Amino acid sequence: MVISLNIPTPTQEIQVGKRNLYIKRDDLIDSDFSGNKARKLHYYLHNQFPKVKKLVSYGSAQSNAMYSMSVLAKMRDWEFDYYVNHIASFLIENPHGNYAEALKNGMNIIVGEMPNIADDTVLQIEEGGRVADACYGLEILANEIIDWQKSNQIDNLNIFLPSGTGTTALFLQKYIKDYATVYTTPCVGDATYLKEQFYMLETNEEMHPVIIEPQKKWHFGKLYREHYEIWIKLHKETDLEFDMLYDPIGWQVLLGSDIKDNILYIHQGGLLGNTSMRARYERKYKDLYEDFKNR
Ligand SMILES: *Cc1c(COP(=O)(O)O)cnc(C)c1O
Repeated sequence: MVISLNIPTPTQEIQVGKRNLYIKRDDLIDSDFSGNKARKLHYYLHNQFPKVKKLVSYGSAQSNAMYSMSVLAKMRDWEFDYYVNHIASFLIENPHGNYAEALKNGMNIIVGEMPNIADDTVLQIEEGGRVADACYGLEILANEIIDWQKSNQIDNLNIFLPSGTGTTALFLQKYIKDYATVYTTPCVGDATYLKEQFYMLETNEEMHPVIIEPQKKWHFGKLYREHYEIWIKLHKETDLEFDMLYDPIGWQVLLGSDIKDNILYIHQGGLLGNTSMRARYERKYKDLYEDFKNR
């Protein structure tokens, strides 16, 4: 069975503040897979794994990657064991978002460390889909962008996307090197952490994206007024919903940078994870929410 994605995804023009930019709608890639996780897992959708019976991974109990892997396992009829350090008791009592959907897809969630399994019936994927096999789907993404650039005669393209593990940004830069510069910003650790991630996947530094450091130190997953403000601003000005973990950082960094022209922002999906984030933001910054709701 080959599972097909809605590719190539469309590219559209938007205006944010005074800037005109393009946006690659990878959030539309599939109704069940989340944006860039679909790109990173594309390899496992397009190839056959006759020996594999089980998928094993680890990470946080709310991650987009966990949810996407649960979809993959369900489609492939594999078992799915997912290891976490910890699950919040609130989440256990009130399952929602990625966690609830992954459980519905049959995920076995296990508190503990992922064992090292040497067994060819088991497919092990690193946290967040940080795998060399991700290059398969990201080369396809790069080629979609190159085709679009050629048919619209756009040279010197500046691509921007926020990073977690950096896998998406790294492979995109590698395959699009002759056509565009990829800029990214770390959302999970700092620039040093992100650089280390790049080196784990590619030792040739010429293939690495350009890292722009955020002006402020934010803790991943925490709520910040300025994140909610920019998320609302984007919603109002573009009519698009962005993810609430990575994109608020990405947009603040991009809009504060001196990249002004020929910008393509990659919308990497992740909207299922917004259900819990939205409720938390609405409670915490009621004034902003009231204003947004009544617009
Ligand atoms: C996972 C994810 C990222 C980070 O992707 P990496 O390849 O780990 O850098 C960014 N945005 C969204 C919406 C995601 O779900």
